[in-house]
Amino acid sequence: MQPHRVEPFINAEQIQKRVAELAQQINRDYAGKSLVIIALINGAIPFVADLIRRLDLPGLRVDTLRASSYGNTTESGGSVKILSHFRLDLENEQVLVVDDILDTGRTMSKVTRLFDSENPASLKTCVLLDKPSRRAVPFTADYVGFEIEDKFVVGYGLDYAERYRQLPYIGVVKFEDLVTPII
Ligand code: 5GP
Ligand code: MG
Repeated sequence: MQPHRVEPFINAEQIQKRVAELAQQINRDYAGKSLVIIALINGAIPFVADLIRRLDLPGLRVDTLRASSYGNTTESGGSVKILSHFRLDLENEQVLVVDDILDTGRTMSKVTRLFDSENPASLKTCVLLDKPSRRAVPFTADYVGFEIEDKFVVGYGLDYAERYRQLPYIGVVKFEDLVTPII
């Protein structure tokens, strides 16, 4: 890990307000239907935990899929690996995939192809953050919390070498202008 600092970017209150708005939208769109949410772990853990507690969908079921693209750096590797698989049968189900952030689009395009092959009745995606300028493969999420510029962010599930996932806010990692002492 390079020396760095974390600057506040989106505070906890802003996140919670936006999560509540997304939940309201999802409640409206899936009212009276059953829904299966698949959280992409580890990144989506805090987001999905807050989101599902605001959903008013009695038939809701939740599962997880562990995918990995980043390794220990801040640059996305080209390939996406599925490290652990969901358990629920998705055939004829309404499926909503939830992730922390949409960056190059490689993760979402790979996992949605995987879910599509299970023949769900519908398949939508929800991300807390979206960096449209970073897209390497075309992908549009159905529900987006915040559109952001190309910054490397941590907190609220997002990590730098597995650190900072526990922060209740989102910060930007800064590598430059670390103190050079003037003697
Ligand atoms: P994609 O496949 O769209 O390039 O990247 C999706 C995954 O890359 C996310 O689930 C997340 O794990 C990681 N990622 C992308 N951008 C960032 C970022 O700014 N900060 C952190 N911590 N992870 C990111
Ligand atoms: Mg991730």
